[in-house]
Amino acid sequence: MHSDPDCIFCKIVAGEIPCCTILETDDALAFLDVGPIAPGHLLLIPKTHTETLDQLDSSAMAATARLLPRLAAAVKTATGCEGLNIVQNNGAIAGQVVPHVHFHLIPRTSGDAFAIPWPAGTYPEGEMDTIAGAIRSHL
Ligand code: 5GP
Ligand code: ZN
Repeated sequence: MHSDPDCIFCKIVAGEIPCCTILETDDALAFLDVGPIAPGHLLLIPKTHTETLDQLDSSAMAATARLLPRLAAAVKTATGCEGLNIVQNNGAIAGQVVPHVHFHLIPRTSGDAFAIPWPAGTYPEGEMDTIAGAIRSHL
């Protein structure tokens, strides 16, 4: 289990900073976000320090992500929200402020103020195959 002494989420895992714990296992921790987009907004983290998802060990990922359905169901029932967004930011460009992998569980209700811009585009002829091939070659 890696830990970074300067990481705020590692300090939460170590009990050096308090948090409102929702669920804890040997490998993962879920707690309330102190800056909620909506009441019940949770953060789910692997306990091991890893900055971004692409660097995360697959077993740590599995041990963390397996808790998402249970947490989402509990948040949905407890808050009465109509839906949830699971948001996972990687890198400052993607809005990541805390460099320790985390999943946001954000309750959604109609008329709320949260909106994720979704500027969907299209692929020019042939570019779909090109990018798909490039990604496959790096798996
Ligand atoms: P990011 O922008 O990195 O995806 O999200 C980081 C989240 O961590 C923010 O929503 C912020 O409110 C939350 N956060 C930052 N510091 C603390 C803290 O000390 N305790 C808790 N519970 N949440 C925090
Ligand atoms: Zn950390």
